[in-house]
Amino acid sequence: DVTPVAVIGLGLMGQALAGAFLGGGAPTTVWNRTASKGDALVAAGARRAGSAREAVEAVGPDGLVVLCLTDYDAVREVLEPLGGVLAGRVLVNLTSGTSAAAREVAELMARTGGAYLDGAIMATPDGIGADDAAVLVSGDPAAWDRYGATLRLLGGGTARIGADHGLAALYEMGVLGLMWGVLNGFLHGAALLGAAGVSAEAFAPVARHGIGTVAGWLTDYARRVDAGDHASPDATLETHLATMDHLVHESEALGVDAELPRFVRELARRAAAAGHGGDEYSVMADVFRGRVGAP
Ligand code: NDP
Repeated sequence: DVTPVAVIGLGLMGQALAGAFLGGGAPTTVWNRTASKGDALVAAGARRAGSAREAVEAVGPDGLVVLCLTDYDAVREVLEPLGGVLAGRVLVNLTSGTSAAAREVAELMARTGGAYLDGAIMATPDGIGADDAAVLVSGDPAAWDRYGATLRLLGGGTARIGADHGLAALYEMGVLGLMWGVLNGFLHGAALLGAAGVSAEAFAPVARHGIGTVAGWLTDYARRVDAGDHASPDATLETHLATMDHLVHESEALGVDAELPRFVRELARRAAAAGHGGDEYSVMADVFRGRVGAP
């Protein structure tokens, strides 16, 4: 069920995407503003197009058009001159951006008479094509039915998550926030231990175990958030707050930047001041939603 593919944008990610399509047996046409970035793909069997328009035309009406550029300014710059060439075509845009920007491209494609899928890549270029790599896709259900098998060449976890074109971008934002939360926590912890001469390498397995422990709480937290029920806690917000104090003091004493733990404590203090000190920490969802403890 693999279809021809045009890949427009051959940066670090676009090259990996085109390589996975090619490796999966999809006849692949590539275009990049800086043509030399396509050389290795052409040597591996891809066809080089002289322009984005030529790439779209080259894959024919059954072909899938994949876009992976720096940002949505670049997406608009590439798409706008294409106009009617995209009529009746399916465009998959894997460029990172906001949900609003994704919905704008969906509207542009609808005006053009084409279908649109927006995708969020949950992998780095070297992971593309692996079983545990995923591209989360949202948008037109018929387009997914037609091209899902081709898109799954990008990763075993590739899946469609809904009809709203903005959903993939929202999932990506959620995961990005998570990524920086986890990475900053690890790097801050490594700075604390580093002050006592402990290497980050020694800390890493303990940190990984801690991340696993916290990951195990998500099912219960998600249920609480959806139900709006933060009663009967395993640990109260007040207990968390007392421990946050230790982290702030320890950081300050060791000369480690304490802004991150201070900020985390400030958010929790707002919930406690609004009367939620006895709740499960999951009540912080209501702070983020602006329902509790507005500054
Ligand atoms: P790169 O900087 O390596 O590539 C950017 C690409 O966009 C290049 O092909 C560049 O062309 C092209 N481009 C930029 N502006 C224009 C323009 N005005 N007209 C035509 N082409 C343009 O970035 P990545 O490949 O790493 O990332 C691409 C997208 O994928 C981003 O949105 C990123 O967030 C997302 N992504 C990347 C991941 C990663 O690990 N790399 C992970 C998940 C998502 P040229 O070569 O001519 O400059």
